[in-house]
Amino acid sequence: MSDYRMETKCVQSGYTPGNGEPRQIPIIQSTTFKYATSEDMGKLFDLEASGYFYSRLQNPTCDAVAAKIADMEGGTAAMLTSSGQAANFYAVFNIANAGDHVISSASIYGGTFNLFSVTMKKMGVEFTFVDPNCSDEELEAAFRPNTRAVFGETIANPALTILDIEKFAKAAHAHQVPLIVDNTFATPVNCRPFEWGADIVTHSTTKYMDGHGAQVGGCIVDSGKFDWMAAADKFPGLCTPDMSYHGITYAEKFGKEGAFITKCTAQLMRDFGSTPAPQNAFILNLGLESLHVRMPRHCENAQAIAEYLEKHPKISWVNYSGLPSSPYYKLAQKYLPGGSCGVVSFGVKGGRDAAGAFMAALRLAAIETHVADARTCCLHPASSTHRQMSEEELAAAGVPGDLVRLSCGLESKDDLIADIAQALEKI
Ligand SMILES: *Cc1c(COP(=O)(O)O)cnc(C)c1O
Repeated sequence: MSDYRMETKCVQSGYTPGNGEPRQIPIIQSTTFKYATSEDMGKLFDLEASGYFYSRLQNPTCDAVAAKIADMEGGTAAMLTSSGQAANFYAVFNIANAGDHVISSASIYGGTFNLFSVTMKKMGVEFTFVDPNCSDEELEAAFRPNTRAVFGETIANPALTILDIEKFAKAAHAHQVPLIVDNTFATPVNCRPFEWGADIVTHSTTKYMDGHGAQVGGCIVDSGKFDWMAAADKFPGLCTPDMSYHGITYAEKFGKEGAFITKCTAQLMRDFGSTPAPQNAFILNLGLESLHVRMPRHCENAQAIAEYLEKHPKISWVNYSGLPSSPYYKLAQKYLPGGSCGVVSFGVKGGRDAAGAFMAALRLAAIETHVADARTCCLHPASSTHRQMSEEELAAAGVPGDLVRLSCGLESKDDLIADIAQALEKI
């Protein structure tokens, strides 16, 4: 980990060219890499030497960008994946197999909820979903002898709840299991979960890290702090020999700092192959170079819009952790003192129809399922992502019919507020 500040890491970490080499990260658009002898290559297959042989496992462009994100998060190792979904799947499946159990915050991204509650359940991994605001006793009661990890999102998409990372880390560590935190919405610019006790961080780099809606990607970062060997009976995949790699024991050979990501690459990426294209890693890196400049502006715009909406007579409620009226204001002050993210949700008086009419009248904010890029966009979940649900089911899921999710971009906040004002006038 470098000692530079976040701004410098965003711009320069991960790649240092030698004399006469390209200043920008080269896109190594090659599936394979050349060796002089079979013995040379054999050492790579045995993980005896490090080097590249096939881009499904590792590629220099992707590794340079992963190294930058590891540095930004303050971790020891990282890998890119082809999507945020792949990152969360790998992060959990790397330590929880059939017959194991995982505790997750109930307030998480819908795609992750589906991955955990439907697809991974079919694979034999059981999840218990807990209210992120539960008491210590309720959290404690969720643990079982076969619990292997605890999972949550720093800022949940789309509910915008904020995870009490220290509370979840303490509970996980008392049971000798790691806390995995999806830090997508906060980004390491606004929160570094390792500083609060998280052990593994995941990202959908599709969102703010890319920031321009140009590539779908993910990332897993290891803090290097979790002592797998101290709980060897819980993590046989890391602490006993891997016969598919000539009997290597990852936690012994690569230590706390490298075992998790090496196993994830050598086994899961080898077998599932959700690898990103080098071209996409390059595009992601362009986004990372300005992340520290963009995040404060996203937050400034969202704060101004949330304050405007809260005073507007046609708006029934506003959810943004930067508002003192938010139940998450205190947690946000602790974990996200520099700002949370650019996403605001609110209710339009008149319910579903009024929300639809308001959105149709917007000129700058486009209707998209995406969030977290330079262009402001909005979504009415009740008529799109959650349209199969009844009014009762919507309310139970925390997505009432009047909810509009607004992802504040990097345009002028005055223009955005003027656009919202004219659209509200039309309903
Ligand atoms: C979007 C998102 C994901 C999924 O990422 P993809 O890149 O779309 O696969 C996971 N977690 C959070 C918090 C997200 O916002």
